[in-house]
Amino acid sequence: MAGALRGVVAMDGPSGTGKSTVSRKLAAKLGAGYLDTGAMYRMVTLAVLRAGVDPADAPAVLAVAEKAELGIGTSPDETTVTLAGEDVAAEIRGTDVTTAVSPVSAVPAVRELLVARQRDLIAEVLGRVGGIVVEGRDIGTVVAPDAELKVFLTASAEVRAARRSAQDSAAGRQSTVDGAKAAVERRDRLDSTRATSPLRAADDAVEVDTSQLNIDQVIVALAELALHRGLLEDCPAEAAR
Ligand code: C5P
Repeated sequence: MAGALRGVVAMDGPSGTGKSTVSRKLAAKLGAGYLDTGAMYRMVTLAVLRAGVDPADAPAVLAVAEKAELGIGTSPDETTVTLAGEDVAAEIRGTDVTTAVSPVSAVPAVRELLVARQRDLIAEVLGRVGGIVVEGRDIGTVVAPDAELKVFLTASAEVRAARRSAQDSAAGRQSTVDGAKAAVERRDRLDSTRATSPLRAADDAVEVDTSQLNIDQVIVALAELALHRGLLEDCPAEAAR
């Protein structure tokens, strides 16, 4: 471990930038908690699909969201994702959920509900562990605007599509790079143009282009940023590497 993180690291950016892997590993390296807010939107979307509700029917979507029993772990070593106690970690990454998640997460009242829940989880982890890495689309802008470090991860559309396609294939889902590129671009367009909390970098976010970097290089760069912000307790500079 490179040192104990104090405070919140907000990790935003489009899909396929390596955000989830980087966030989880960074949290583990810095002895911090980890929150995947995308998983929460995905769980609500799964509940919507299971209820047979149209993702475009905002009032019906909200009714499902209000009743959904979401379970989300905050440990980077063991991520738990449950819906009414059922492990849905694999199912929320499937094509059906991925296709429907953007309209569900564009419903303002759904966002209000989940943002409140996310803030409670962050406060709980800060009180217990002292630091947390939170990933999503609106963490630096809405969920944790006072975060001590805000990062906006980017990568070219080609690189993001190749990464997403490789991930899908590894998980046993059918995938081509062209198909993944179209899906990634569609989702980013929907996420960036919605009226409520669109995907965008906070004014004070540090933008990191991961196109030419591997996961470990990104993690080292971010650990150094945290170190230079004075967020790592009792940590000499070389230990961040
Ligand atoms: O990060 P992930 O790809 O799992 O996110 C799935 C979807 O959830 C995004 O495409 C976006 O529509 C939504 N999301 C969001 N706000 C967040 C996190 C995710 O709107 N903070």
